[in-house]
Amino acid sequence: MTGYIYDPIFTLHGSDEHIENRFRVERIHEVAQHFPLVRYPIKKASKEELSWIHDPNYVEWVEKAYEEGYRFILNEDTLLTPRSFEVASYAAGSTMPIIDAFANGQITNAFLNIRPPGHHAERKMGQGFCIFNNIALMARYAQHRGFAKVLIVDFDVHHGNGTQDIFYTDDTVCYFSTHEKNNYPYFTGSVEEIGEGRGKGYNINRPYGDYCTDEELLRLYEDLPGWFDFDIVLVSAGYDLMKDEAISTAQITFDGLRALIRRLLDFAGDKPIAFVLEGGYNLDSLAQSAEVTLQELTGV
Ligand SMILES: [Zn+2]
Repeated sequence: MTGYIYDPIFTLHGSDEHIENRFRVERIHEVAQHFPLVRYPIKKASKEELSWIHDPNYVEWVEKAYEEGYRFILNEDTLLTPRSFEVASYAAGSTMPIIDAFANGQITNAFLNIRPPGHHAERKMGQGFCIFNNIALMARYAQHRGFAKVLIVDFDVHHGNGTQDIFYTDDTVCYFSTHEKNNYPYFTGSVEEIGEGRGKGYNINRPYGDYCTDEELLRLYEDLPGWFDFDIVLVSAGYDLMKDEAISTAQITFDGLRALIRRLLDFAGDKPIAFVLEGGYNLDSLAQSAEVTLQELTGV
């Protein structure tokens, strides 16, 4: 069975003029109607839970920022609107019911149609459309529920600097990212960034050049860490790597995406795997990408 998370609350942050807007999750939710999914209720992360992955001072700041007059985090990439703290707390927290469902054996895979996205949010600061790091909280909660070793795979076209930052010295969470080299956030994501201390070797970056093809992308996934004895796989599913996206030069086709999804499902084997929405801004391409993903997850 395939678990699914969506709620209209995820439309209540940001601006319709911003590329990271409510229409993204609304379009995906229309697609989701055509699949046999087990929908779970959303959950709001507490400030204490958010502090598992973020500096408590940052969490406190976000809570009060709008009423104190702030309208963005760092720059206008990452808007703050009246309900942003609440919506971002729900996006991060709603990863937890899926982990509970995995732990209870109710589902074997899942798709989380949530926003704002999370993988650029570092321990001390959100950025790049991201307020709280949803997949990082999901990883920590998974460990809390007995999935001791977590593999995070990030195929968003941008490097997940936030996820890397949060787990950089950790050997219980392995982070594997493919991303376009000459793209945001520009100063992270090189192959030399392999983790530090106990985390050395558990951070794996595989950047690619401009105009990446299906073949080039899939070749990088030969480097998935077969040596890491994971208990669960969490995927930062950013669909901004597709060829019709204006935000990158990557040329990934729907056949290429399907092959990638199959590769990840094969790699997970009998372990739970969840796809958590990150980027993807061309609404037609995003809807079709979600359809491909759900076809592979449900077998329909
Ligand atoms: Zn992205």
